[in-house]
Amino acid sequence: MFDKLHEECGVFGIFGHPEAANLTYLGLYALQHRGQESCGIVASDGMQLKAHLGMGLVADVFKHDGIFERLPGPSAIGHVRYSTAGGNDMKNCQPIMVDYSRGSIAVAHNGNLVNAQELRNQLEKSGSIFSTTADTETIIHLIARAQSDSLVERVCESLKQVKGAYSLAFLTETRMIAVRDPNGFRPLSLGKLDGAFVVASESCAFDLIEAEYIREIEPGEMIVVDKNGMKSYFPFNQESRNTPCIFEYIYFARPDSRIFNRMVYPVRKEFGRQLARQYPVDADMVIAVPDSGMPAAMGYAEESGLPFELGLIRNHYVGRTFIEPQQSIRHFGVKLKLNPVSDLIVGKRVVVVDDSIVRGTTSRKIVKMIRNAGAKEIHVRISSPPTSYPCFYGIDTPSRKELISASHSIEEITRYITADSLCYLQLEGLHAALAQFGDHKIDFCDACFSGQYPVKFPRLKDDNQLGLF
Ligand code: AMP
Repeated sequence: MFDKLHEECGVFGIFGHPEAANLTYLGLYALQHRGQESCGIVASDGMQLKAHLGMGLVADVFKHDGIFERLPGPSAIGHVRYSTAGGNDMKNCQPIMVDYSRGSIAVAHNGNLVNAQELRNQLEKSGSIFSTTADTETIIHLIARAQSDSLVERVCESLKQVKGAYSLAFLTETRMIAVRDPNGFRPLSLGKLDGAFVVASESCAFDLIEAEYIREIEPGEMIVVDKNGMKSYFPFNQESRNTPCIFEYIYFARPDSRIFNRMVYPVRKEFGRQLARQYPVDADMVIAVPDSGMPAAMGYAEESGLPFELGLIRNHYVGRTFIEPQQSIRHFGVKLKLNPVSDLIVGKRVVVVDDSIVRGTTSRKIVKMIRNAGAKEIHVRISSPPTSYPCFYGIDTPSRKELISASHSIEEITRYITADSLCYLQLEGLHAALAQFGDHKIDFCDACFSGQYPVKFPRLKDDNQLGLF
């Protein structure tokens, strides 16, 4: 039984560089924001695959002497991962590596398969023994059972059976394969460094290793790299819609990254501008909830003509409060992470900009903190619509009953977070902002806001709890 629905991850891969594992380490370091719970690297020396995986941050898992000597060879893939309910143990660390009749293969996955349980049930009935509770392992079993002789065809055979979101990097002894699902939910870019091909969830990983950004891998595209160079295939039925995840632009990706062929920062800033056009307020200053609200707050300030101030200072030595598993710790966490600049705020009317409200816990704490620092009025502006539906494609959103806007009106949420006013950028506003970049024709997945899921998923045991059907 899979014990989780929501998983956030980052993937990296490099083929044809003498320092493959070291560069993968750096790439994962740049992608750390995509997952902080576990990480791993699998490297190939052309003869065999070797792995090092562990729970924790990249800098901790790879801190001991001699690890990179045990990961020799010119190619490597890596993974950072965070998942919510259960499954937080070693066995679910990625890349998943197996030996089977045709050699060894490893895979790193960002996304979430919606029919993995169904496929796993069938595979188990016919004798497969799973060693993880991760949906990704299904892909490996399907590859091992595929009939085709060529690896590329076996991977295609496997992926044609899975549905949902996947940006994948595979590594065998002699090849690297990178694939994006036909909907292109999650980003995956292609780059080059000293003649070696590199793939990464976000281009910020290329910047760190000084690789050249080439382009986004297309939805439904498969890139195969071996000693003869790179080949691109489109093996899937291309009738699928291209539905990249809008939340990557709102929150998840780093603002200095290029994803879906576009830099995140200006898009995020434009969300803030749009928010200011639609929901202006008479106030003395605009402040951001750092770091996630920063670009949108700057956009809001620019558009409204209000001064932008650093009213909240972040302690950078604390992880994201959202990832703390217990409610009690999460409450405390906001205080650990943020502190108001009281002399700046006292007696002032403050606009506070953040990217999203999920459970409402963070906003409530922040508003109270700013109020205690002496603010006269607090107007909260959120640069995305109310998050009312869980994601089944690889963003960690809690179940519907925990999403405050699934069961409360904006007036009720305003009272709960104790703000003087609260406004969300609505879907039309988001799309209007994207249109400024010529992206209005792209059919972004906005299921977390609209409940319109582009790829259907099987009914879950806790249907009623989720309140989706
Ligand atoms: P909450 O207290 O649940 O309302 O948390 C909202 C905060 O979590 C916002 O400041 C967001 O920046 C952040 N956030 C939203 N979605 C996610 C996510 N999927 N993973 C981690 N943090 C998130």
